[in-house]
Amino acid sequence: MSTRNVLVINCGSSSIKFALVGESRADFPLHGLAERLGSADAILRWQHDNQRHEQAIAGSDHRAALAALLPLVEQAADGSLHGIGHRVVHGGEHFTAAGLIGADTLAAIRATTPLAPLHNPANLLGIEAAMAVFPELPQVAVFDTAFHQTLPAHAYRYALPEALYRDHGVRRYGFHGTSHRYVSHRAADMAGLATGDSSWLCAHLGNGASTCAIVNGQSQDTSMGLTPLEGLVMGTRSGDVDPNLHGHLARTLGWSLDKIDAMLNKESGLLALSGGLSNDMRSLEQARDQGHAGATLAIEVFCYRLAKSLAAMSCALPRLDGLIFTGGIGENSALIRSKTVASLGLLGLVIDHEANAACVRGQSGAIHAAGHPRILVVPTNEERQIALDTLALLDPVL
Ligand code: ADP
Repeated sequence: MSTRNVLVINCGSSSIKFALVGESRADFPLHGLAERLGSADAILRWQHDNQRHEQAIAGSDHRAALAALLPLVEQAADGSLHGIGHRVVHGGEHFTAAGLIGADTLAAIRATTPLAPLHNPANLLGIEAAMAVFPELPQVAVFDTAFHQTLPAHAYRYALPEALYRDHGVRRYGFHGTSHRYVSHRAADMAGLATGDSSWLCAHLGNGASTCAIVNGQSQDTSMGLTPLEGLVMGTRSGDVDPNLHGHLARTLGWSLDKIDAMLNKESGLLALSGGLSNDMRSLEQARDQGHAGATLAIEVFCYRLAKSLAAMSCALPRLDGLIFTGGIGENSALIRSKTVASLGLLGLVIDHEANAACVRGQSGAIHAAGHPRILVVPTNEERQIALDTLALLDPVL
């Protein structure tokens, strides 16, 4: 059987992250990042078969960057590229799964822009550029929100006037769906359970972070809401605060909405709790080891809030088949895993410290003490999941 290749694209307003995913190959033959697009410093960096390369692409926009990428992709795919998978942040209530991109899909993504004013326009830019550079290939949109469209109303509705939901789509959507879906399938495989008969708590802990309750392969609740600001403490995002904070800061300090938005999204979280030291967990762990009070506090609050969120998510589970850790922090930080689990004794969760210390740098495995519910470290792979979704929408190989 010939193997199929998919180019996976994740566009920001001035960047394109890309990976060539081969159906039957675990690593990516080609992956990289084009950044500072639209500026004189625009640059394309890539890794091909473990060799690093870079090329200045001064002044390139998204389309020019993809055009520069085209020959590299064709070479790495050996002339056999079957489709393009795009990560799209917000699919609103319109998208419950990945979809082939046509005029209707583009219009629906555009119509969802008010819910993701920074992300969706950048994703559209990438889709339109890819359609121009790869006109003959099918393109698929894979949404961060789609997995959570199975949330029941009691989990997705805010206690707000109904018209805000009905006319303006104000509800909880959730994000990181591609990652929660991928790792929950992998966890079921690792545990020897059928995804369709399994029940998980999941913590995706990267720069953004969220928890999820996954029952029989479907998301039942998640910590992010209308936007990716709700829920856990993150690198620079506050997570949950008193909803009166906006009014309080406007009234007492005269802050504008823009200033409050920027503060909550870019100047809060681990960065703020550590007294401005860092938004990066690895740096905070090092500083904590040296007795830094801010780093110590940031880690305490992060783990306590994470444990609290996981305990809340357990309300959506009929039973607990296990807790999954993923994302850069979840996959690498034995400290964060052990401190979080230490607050979850009432769920019966107990960590095996030796196994916990061994699961770092891409090593998956079980880290629970014998006789207690499973705790699994499962490296996420959103690019592979996007490629799988893309292939599932193409004609099967003959
Ligand atoms: P993104 O959400 O941008 O994809 P990642 O999933 O790569 O982010 O996660 C980034 C986070 O993972 C950072 O806070 C980083 O410090 C943390 N991280 C990576 N390696 C380690 C490690 N060995 N110990 C603790 N934290 C780590």
